[in-house]
Amino acid sequence: MPAIALRLAGLRQRIPGDVTLVAVSKFHPAEAIMEAYGAGQRVFGESRALEMADKASRLPADIEWHFIGHLQTNKVRNVVPHASLIHSIDSMHLLKAVNAEAAKAGRRVRVLMQLHVALEETKYGFTPEELAEALGPGIFEEYPAIEFAGVMAMASNVDDEERIRRDFAEARACFEALRDGVMKDNPSFRTLSMGMSHDWPIAVAEGANMIRIGTDIFGEREY
Ligand SMILES: *Cc1c(COP(=O)(O)O)cnc(C)c1O
Repeated sequence: MPAIALRLAGLRQRIPGDVTLVAVSKFHPAEAIMEAYGAGQRVFGESRALEMADKASRLPADIEWHFIGHLQTNKVRNVVPHASLIHSIDSMHLLKAVNAEAAKAGRRVRVLMQLHVALEETKYGFTPEELAEALGPGIFEEYPAIEFAGVMAMASNVDDEERIRRDFAEARACFEALRDGVMKDNPSFRTLSMGMSHDWPIAVAEGANMIRIGTDIFGEREY
C-alpha cells in the first residue's frame, strides 16, 4: 500500500468512529489528495483560498472541502462556492462578508466560530467571553445565510500536555455553553473541531468530534 493510504489506515484504526477526520492537504499536490481519495478519504482541509478553489475545480466533485486557514474578506468569494464548512470565522467582520457572499449566491454556508484559547499571541479568533457576547439572541436574523455549525480551536503550541488539555477543555466548555444556550434550537450546532497531528488524542479525550490532520497523513509540508 502506498504511504498515504497506509498512514490513513493506521489513523482510522485509532480514531473513534464518531469523530470526523479532516485530511489537511494544504501545500500538498493533487496527486497526494488523490492517493488519500483512493483510500476512501472524502473530507479535505485547505488553508489558502486560491489553492482550495484551484484544487476543488480540478478534483472529484464528491470531495468535501473544508476551509481552515485565516480568511481575508477579499478572498471570501473564492471560498464560498467550494467550502462545505469554513472552520475559521475569526471576526464578526468576516462573518458579515461570508453572509453577504452566501446570500448573493442564494445559499447558506456552514461555519465554525474560531476560538482563541492558546497561550500564543495572535490576532485571530474570539476569546470565549468575546464569542459569548458576539453570538447574542438576534444572531440568526442578522446572519440569515449562515448556518452556525459549531466551534474550532487550536491548543497552545507547547509540550506541556496539561496546558494543551486545559486549552481544549476551555474550548469545549465554551462550545457546550453556546450549544445549550443561544444555539439550543439550532440542531446544526454540533461540531467541535480541535486536534492536529501532535495533539489530537488529547482533543478527542476532551470532546472533539472533528480533528484536522495534515502531517501524519501527508508527511512534512514544504512552505
Ligand atoms: C495546518 C493545520 C492543521 C494540520 O496540522 P498538522 O500538524 O499538519 O496535522 C490543522 N489545523 C489548522 C488550522 C492548520 O492550519
